[in-house]
Amino acid sequence: MKSLITSPFINGHSIGPKGNELIPQTNPTTEEVFVEVQAAGLEELEMAVQGAKSAFNGWRQRSPNERADMLYAIAHAIRQQKDTLARWETQNIGKPAQDAKDEIELGARIFEYYAGAVGKYFGHTIPVSKKGLNMTLREPMGVVAAIVPWNFPFPIACWKVAPALAAGNTVILKPSSLSPLTALGLGKLAIEAGLPEGILQVVPGRGRLIGEALSRHPDVRKISFTGSTQSGARIMESAAKGIKRVSLELGGKSPNIIFADADLDSAASDSPMSVFANAGQDCCARSRVFVEDAVFDEFVDRFIAATSELKVDDPGLATTHIGPMVSKSQRENAEAFIEQARSSGRQIASGGHRPFERGYFLSPTVVLEPEVGDSCWRDEIFGPVVCIRRFKDEATMLQEVNDTPYGLSGSIWTNQLSRALRVARAVEAGVLSINTHSSVHVEAPFGGYKQSGIGRDLGMHALDGYSEIKNIFIAE
Ligand code: NAD
Repeated sequence: MKSLITSPFINGHSIGPKGNELIPQTNPTTEEVFVEVQAAGLEELEMAVQGAKSAFNGWRQRSPNERADMLYAIAHAIRQQKDTLARWETQNIGKPAQDAKDEIELGARIFEYYAGAVGKYFGHTIPVSKKGLNMTLREPMGVVAAIVPWNFPFPIACWKVAPALAAGNTVILKPSSLSPLTALGLGKLAIEAGLPEGILQVVPGRGRLIGEALSRHPDVRKISFTGSTQSGARIMESAAKGIKRVSLELGGKSPNIIFADADLDSAASDSPMSVFANAGQDCCARSRVFVEDAVFDEFVDRFIAATSELKVDDPGLATTHIGPMVSKSQRENAEAFIEQARSSGRQIASGGHRPFERGYFLSPTVVLEPEVGDSCWRDEIFGPVVCIRRFKDEATMLQEVNDTPYGLSGSIWTNQLSRALRVARAVEAGVLSINTHSSVHVEAPFGGYKQSGIGRDLGMHALDGYSEIKNIFIAE
């Protein structure tokens, strides 16, 4: 796979020019358009859905070993193309080179995990009150639509496609218009690895057209979505008519809680990348920092010192920690939050400016002690902006932590085990990290409480979202 795939990949082929919209792909480092991708129209979408529907029976009837071997082959093909895929990601969304390689590797590991899971996911026998044998089977749903965002395009696509295929479904993958390249690459390399045609279709296109059409399509049984809370709500509405299964991984405004007894060296050196990595465009970004009063000044000084060590630069360089934001409008959106904080008299203790004339860069920005009603404290910014506030007692802090519609993730830094567990249980969020900010593990469930989502990606839990339970009773 040497060259970019620039049109929908359906039934094993790249579908040539159809006169649909051409979506320009802008390199956020240079601000130049480097390629145009042909969007799928409704005609191509229909072709993709019908192809996936026809392929379903053949795929579900493959033995578990055959399905597992296919997923292993895709993992192998991803590793072989790692450098190419990583380069495309850097060019397409400004992902720093090492992060891009790590994310492609993560995609390969996800396929391996679900290859191994195929034969380990099964039903139960259940003792019931009637005489006989009661058992449950796990069965695939049919055609699954995976609608994914632009911030971690490859791993998120893999963590939806791999478990859906492992469970015996066929998949239509719709990447974001800002980042279609590695998804199209995945479609092509899966075919080259031997996946029969129709089982994985890739349809780039606008969310309002292709995403909505997938959410309404009568032959699509399940929508697995990652993206903003607003789009998630629209998808639920569209899917409601057909009682489609829906899983949603949505936005966040995650807390980072620093107690005075924490190892401040680790907390202060790790915390900047828990919010500034990927230029802050991370649903798990720990963007609200709560610091216990006794160590507030010391923590803030160390946090700012550690932030100043982060290299904001060309994402193609191996030394770069933070690249540009994905687009002009994404940066303007983050700048509006900073401007609002500034004009309300909040202290911008670091950053808040464009470090270069060219490229959608924004320097990592620290807002000190905003009010709890400030938009930078309440709303998801999805940019390199952190707010830090002090707290005096645990109960009030926890009230503020949970005073948000979101509930995706959070970190707690303390050396007291009992406190760590007490606070982890009290935070209304799906993913908590203690003395680290690491949130994503291939083997463990990932997803949110409240308006951060419904259902779980990753781990064995993800398979529940791609299968139905059938109950069978045999009279004795
Ligand atoms: P987005 O909601 O704008 O788009 C996500 C995907 O949905 C894209 O493919 C888009 O084309 C499609 N889409 C948009 N509107 C649609 C509609 N009405 N119907 C169907 N599909 C539609 O989100 P984004 O800007 O690409 O991503 C950023 C958001 O994603 C942030 O809010 C972030 O927190 C969230 N996110 C969440 C997670 C998580 O796991 N919880 C992970 C990454 C990103």
